[in-house]
Amino acid sequence: MTTLVWFRDDLRLADHPALRAALEKEGPVICLYVLDEESAGVRSLGGAARWWLHHSLEALADRVQDRGGTLVLRRGPAADVVPEVADAAGADAVFWNRRYGGAEREVDSSVKDTLRQAGIEAHSFAGSLLFEPWTITTGQGGHYKVFTPFWKACLAEPPPRAPLPEPREVPGPASPPASDDLDAWGLTPTAPDWAGGLREAWEPGELAARRRLRDFLEQDVDEYDRARDEPAAGTTSLLSPHLRFGEISPYTVWHEAVSSGRDVGGFLSEIGWREFAWHTLYHFPALARENLNARFDAFPWPELNEDHLRFWQQGRTGVALVDAGMRELWETGTMHNRVRMVVASYLVKNLMIDWRHGEEWFWDTLVDADEASNPFNWQWVAGSGADAAPYFRIFNPETQAKKFDPQHQYVGRWAPEYVSGDELLPEPLVDLRASRQQALDAYEEVKGAS
Ligand code: FAD
Repeated sequence: MTTLVWFRDDLRLADHPALRAALEKEGPVICLYVLDEESAGVRSLGGAARWWLHHSLEALADRVQDRGGTLVLRRGPAADVVPEVADAAGADAVFWNRRYGGAEREVDSSVKDTLRQAGIEAHSFAGSLLFEPWTITTGQGGHYKVFTPFWKACLAEPPPRAPLPEPREVPGPASPPASDDLDAWGLTPTAPDWAGGLREAWEPGELAARRRLRDFLEQDVDEYDRARDEPAAGTTSLLSPHLRFGEISPYTVWHEAVSSGRDVGGFLSEIGWREFAWHTLYHFPALARENLNARFDAFPWPELNEDHLRFWQQGRTGVALVDAGMRELWETGTMHNRVRMVVASYLVKNLMIDWRHGEEWFWDTLVDADEASNPFNWQWVAGSGADAAPYFRIFNPETQAKKFDPQHQYVGRWAPEYVSGDELLPEPLVDLRASRQQALDAYEEVKGAS
């Protein structure tokens, strides 16, 4: 009996229900990862996420090997590759943890059909979300569109199950199927190598993810509610890319947080926003392409000003907090949540650039670029999303900087020219007040649309 475990956004050994189920069967286990950039609708990873994936796979391969197994790497459409590997390896069963994006679900159900037709057992498990999207329904049986009642309904469910222990052994077959060479996938940048800042800021992999959680719960969680909006405070968990790639499971995060004995309600409700983003994507698979609120289809976007978009991407808008955030993103592959909201609001509501352009830039540059959270939050800021900030609430980046970065520590680090006074500052691309008014006028047209 040989069982294939198909790894996806769950690059870990601990609390991995599919792996656990495979190990409970007799016989060897083959660990497989498929780089699928060909299946219709499956979004290819952006540059920063590809960098992360490379290192995360490297870390996983080492851990599997330490426990006696091999991680097999293959590239191609998963609907073909998974059954091919199962067949070549003589596998009797294929197990995986579920995904919740529309295109991914189609791929997974096609794999399941093919395997079952070939007489191979195929089984999926819940490992990446605490509350699977179809299990949380309103009184009328529909899905939630507002966060607070959604999270209340989640918290009224039985608590998430305890995490599964990490296996001591992952016994591989005597002759595992051939694997691609990870380096040959070219996931890391070479010419030029722009990943220096990412290497400095991050350590991908399951062990690093666990350390991060432990450090956060020991050192920062008490300050979380007070200072989570201050970009220089460094009190947030920085777990997002680890959760994105499933190096740590939300079940582990939940249980360790709760058993830390600290006040973790505020932190767990942010984990709740992650759940809500997936809940929304599950019920609206076009989240990255279409306005959730169709009234926004009538929004009169002006013709795209490519220069303004480029200046925003490069952190050269003439607005201190926006420029600081965009440079932090470019350098490190992340940006503090408060600043993400400010730069997004500035792009959409001051530069009047369609949120989809911003979403795409974040998709390419964030190490935590997530199929649900990224478009969900962009639409939240733009006003077209679920439980969104009303369109007329326009963040003023100068007021935000005064409130959340009063000592200029954040701006001083990422855009020091605004603080030092030594250099000539760039001319602002637009006048904040006038552009705000222009956005509000445009919004009047949406308000009237039905
Ligand atoms: P913490 O404050 O420690 O929160 C713990 C965890 O909760 C995070 O790791 C994350 O998994 C989750 N979380 C927190 N806030 C949110 C949120 N608003 N929505 C969904 N999940 C949340 N987050 C991503 O993981 N991927 C993205 O692609 C992404 N794109 C974003 C785009 C925009 C325009 C905005 C405004 C926010 C985006 N976020 C995204 C949400 C948020 O900014 C990050 O999750 C957060 O900054 C990560 O830092 P942390 O791990 O220290 O968070």
